[in-house]
Amino acid sequence: MQPPPAEPGMPEDEVDTPALLLDLDAFEANLDMMASLLAPTGTRLRAHAKTHKSSVIAKLQMARGAIGQCVQKVAEAEALAWGGIPDILVSNQVVGARKLARFAALAHIAQVAICVDDAEQVAAIEAAAEAAGVRIPVLIEIDVGAARCGVEPGPPAVALAEHIAASKQLRFGGIQAYQGSAQHQRTPEQRAASIAHAVESSRRTVEQLRQRGLDCSIVGGAGTGTFRLEAASGVYTEIQAGSYAFMDADYARNSDAPPFRHALFVLATVMSRAIPGVAVVDAGHKAVAIDSGLPLVWDRPGLRYAGASDEHGKILIEGGTPPGLGEKLRLVPGHCDPTVDRYDWYVGVRGGRVECLWPVSARGGMA
Ligand code: PLP
Ligand code: MN
Repeated sequence: MQPPPAEPGMPEDEVDTPALLLDLDAFEANLDMMASLLAPTGTRLRAHAKTHKSSVIAKLQMARGAIGQCVQKVAEAEALAWGGIPDILVSNQVVGARKLARFAALAHIAQVAICVDDAEQVAAIEAAAEAAGVRIPVLIEIDVGAARCGVEPGPPAVALAEHIAASKQLRFGGIQAYQGSAQHQRTPEQRAASIAHAVESSRRTVEQLRQRGLDCSIVGGAGTGTFRLEAASGVYTEIQAGSYAFMDADYARNSDAPPFRHALFVLATVMSRAIPGVAVVDAGHKAVAIDSGLPLVWDRPGLRYAGASDEHGKILIEGGTPPGLGEKLRLVPGHCDPTVDRYDWYVGVRGGRVECLWPVSARGGMA
């Protein structure tokens, strides 16, 4: 782990770069906005920690109404459980006895649940739970249109649920119904059609399970691009949005973009002005994820981040005030989740000053 790039009280301008900045006013406004949008629907928020990888941020989300957290990996579940988060769902498949033993051990200190889409996995989780002496809720992931993971909705899900319910180490916990490919569909009509299909698939599955006496305590899914649709469906009980807390440049490209503020930035320093019309910053793609598009330069009209190499970001000066050598610029990442994973520290800023430093405690975490 690197030493922090700043100290509390320092002006933002003195933060060492590249650094991961969190604008605390915008971040808190995003948490409040999500709470106010979900309140009238009665749908719970189980925020996704794959975005922030931080037990501090998880606690702040829970203080503003989230009922728990989702994670994608055992290492993330560990970071949160060890940090005191009491209710964690691994919204994913976990394969391998060693990982499952680590996961089951967490049931001694937190309420943990996990997803499956294969009967073989039910047996593996059962063995891990038995060895740890715990009872674990298991959700069935159904494929609601993204064709990534998940069994077919309807009878295959019911068969797997009966298998889970028959185990003395496991409890049937509900269904995982995340439609990932809908999140960045650009028009509201495309998103509405995708989520209508996900809702219908989930409704049918929940109904068939109920007919067999299997109640779903969780029907979970949804991300920042579509959560208002799932929350209004009357079928989903939990929303798993993650990026809403930070809001990246790619989500801002959705037409009728979700109503959140950019709160996460990479602070970069201009390291070369040798080429006319070009400012080179010390934030290339080792500092900012470019899989969902290049970052935007914040609050500096006329500056365009046009290309990334490992350690260099090339900014074209197309208008406005040219940045000088050594000047610091805020970049809005194209994709927040993998950008966060490149840093050890959040530098929390408010009113131009550093207020806090929080570790990205689940950083990396291959497993
Ligand atoms: N739930 C699951 C299972 C996911 O994989 C993701 C993101 O990929 C999310 C929720 C949250 O999505 P977002 O960060 O877009 O809000
Ligand atoms: Mn993402």
